[in-house]
Amino acid sequence: MSETIQTLLQESRTFPPSPEFIAQANANDPKIYQDAAADPEAFWADWARKLDWFEPFDTICEYTPPYAKWFLGGKLNASYNCVDRHALGDRRNKPAIIWEGEPGDSRTITYGELKDEVSRLANALKALGVGKGDRVSVYMPMVPELAMTLLACARIGAAHSVVFGGFSADSLEERTNDAQCKVIVTADGGWRRGGIVPLKSIVDEALDLGCPSVTNVLVLKRAGKPGDLTNGVKTPAYNEGKWVEGRDIWWHDLVASQSTDCPCEPMDSEDLLFVLYTSGSTGKPKGITHTTGGYLTGTMATSKLVFDLKEDDIHFCTADIGWVTGHSYIVYGPMANGATVLMYEGAPDTPDKDRFWRIIEKHKATILYTAPTAIRAFMKWGTEYPDRCDLSSLRLLGSVGEPINPEAWIWYQEVIGKGKCPVVDTWWQTETGAIMVTPLPGITATKPGSATQPFPGISVSVFTEQGGKTEVTGPDVTGTPTGGFLVLTKPWPSMTRGIFNDPTRFQKTYWSRFENAYFAGDGIKLDEEGYLWLLGRVDDIMLVAGHNISTMEVESALVDHHAVAEAAVIGKTHDIKGQAIAAFVILRSGHENHEGLVDELKKHVAHKIGALARPDDIFISAELPKTRSGKIMRRLLRDVAEGRALGDTTTLADPTVVHLLRDKYEASEG
Ligand code: ATP
Ligand code: MG
Repeated sequence: MSETIQTLLQESRTFPPSPEFIAQANANDPKIYQDAAADPEAFWADWARKLDWFEPFDTICEYTPPYAKWFLGGKLNASYNCVDRHALGDRRNKPAIIWEGEPGDSRTITYGELKDEVSRLANALKALGVGKGDRVSVYMPMVPELAMTLLACARIGAAHSVVFGGFSADSLEERTNDAQCKVIVTADGGWRRGGIVPLKSIVDEALDLGCPSVTNVLVLKRAGKPGDLTNGVKTPAYNEGKWVEGRDIWWHDLVASQSTDCPCEPMDSEDLLFVLYTSGSTGKPKGITHTTGGYLTGTMATSKLVFDLKEDDIHFCTADIGWVTGHSYIVYGPMANGATVLMYEGAPDTPDKDRFWRIIEKHKATILYTAPTAIRAFMKWGTEYPDRCDLSSLRLLGSVGEPINPEAWIWYQEVIGKGKCPVVDTWWQTETGAIMVTPLPGITATKPGSATQPFPGISVSVFTEQGGKTEVTGPDVTGTPTGGFLVLTKPWPSMTRGIFNDPTRFQKTYWSRFENAYFAGDGIKLDEEGYLWLLGRVDDIMLVAGHNISTMEVESALVDHHAVAEAAVIGKTHDIKGQAIAAFVILRSGHENHEGLVDELKKHVAHKIGALARPDDIFISAELPKTRSGKIMRRLLRDVAEGRALGDTTTLADPTVVHLLRDKYEASEG
């Protein structure tokens, strides 16, 4: 960046942990940061030893950028660590998964039952010829069998490649071929907003496009036949697909009859656990790989300390398992700790906009981990929905996926957390495997909108365009504030081992900008008190009249206005200023676009940040283009604002949104 970002939105509110929270917290001694920084390898090795190893490791870490290896010589199995070791004695009766389907049906699966189910499924996969070193494509609704499929693959040493159930046949075909998967595990369909997502028919389509590596499709019956009843709700008509004899196999025909005895394959610490394609906010998805020992160590440690996970917690992570958040914080991290996870199949507004709060009330969830996009939707809908439910079981709130605007943070803390739950804003990526920048809820005084500090054992650097480098390893950084690129110069156990079959792209995407350092692609700022503020992707940062202004800060200033629920800001080419700021704004429910509102919003931004950040254009919109993981896709808004042809829209949740928006935008430009 040509100069340090000077326009950071002022945010002076701080929220120290309460004495009651500190007293019971898994981490409450700030010394953890110093100890970990003094010897990160020893810190991580201690955590790794909390896993069960078939053979102990002899070397903690070998690092030759861009590749690191962790816990060399060790042998373990992820399924053993997430299932078997908790299915012993009385603990086998502890719920592992509490699940609720969209029609309101629900199931509880204990660790003992999970072990039997995972073992049966693992034997079924073996019967289909899947073995150690193979890959399995997973295209399923959010049902317990999805978690079981991950664990069954891990059990026999096959790597899973989960493709989010909202992706198209093309996306599934592309990912299945890239990972050369042998089998696809799917379901007839899954419930979404009262309808059925016809998963099996989409698999058929993908296979018709051509996936020569696939020999079989294992199909779970979830949606059933049109007219079937689930908790009194009728399955609507949907495309059930075609049944190809010999290729397609019903889950209930194959899995039920298998033995519950399936030994866990001893895996090398560095053996592939999974491939997962990134969500595609910036372009063509990348097949990110993760290995066994390091990934499990990172997700187990962060689950325990960031979520303050306890034996009797009910952990509700609302992400789909199709994203890394679901991999790390529904399946591997919580389960490596033997925790109880709460899983929900459907939409947050079905049958009504209080669905999440009803689920929390009913199952007494204690931890909620969700995304800013969801929080902003809840704000837009209004407080009446959470207010009609009893949320008193909640004791901790988390956020992930995008920068969280301070107003959304405060709303979350007050309306959902009733002012008593610590809020952890966690920065990480598919590539990092586990949370990297986050408060520790029993130690850190939080600031709304700041992800605060690196997790113990992690060091984060702020690199400036001029070559300045500031390394942050814990809470006590002193020195001058700085802003620039988020860079990681030291290895960590859960870091990706590369892009599947594409070392050149791996090198080029992450390791070419700075020598021997991982460039995450995000902008970051360090304030005078040693707090880190994520500014979004560097590609989204604007250059206005020679000043770098982060889109995130202007968005936060807009969301700070009482009429605004959500905002997306972009830099639009401008003859004089280089870039001019354009904003797309969604109003909160109960607010209408009225004469003077746009001017009022422009003034509000100028008042919050400075005249320089005053948007030239504000466009009131009903919706914003988002990826299927809910992230705003600003590059498409740039195309709209500059009147260009729209770029790649295949990773959008709903491509019609951006087309409609463009038509309205062009009409308003007259
Ligand atoms: P692609 O890499 O294909 O463009 P993606 O980056 O959206 O997709 P993910 O790995 O799911 O895919 O997302 C990681 C990114 O999400 C981070 O690089 C960052 O931009 C953003 N992010 C995640 N958590 C936070 C957070 N707490 N604060 C700010 N940004 C966040
Ligand atoms: Mg990314």
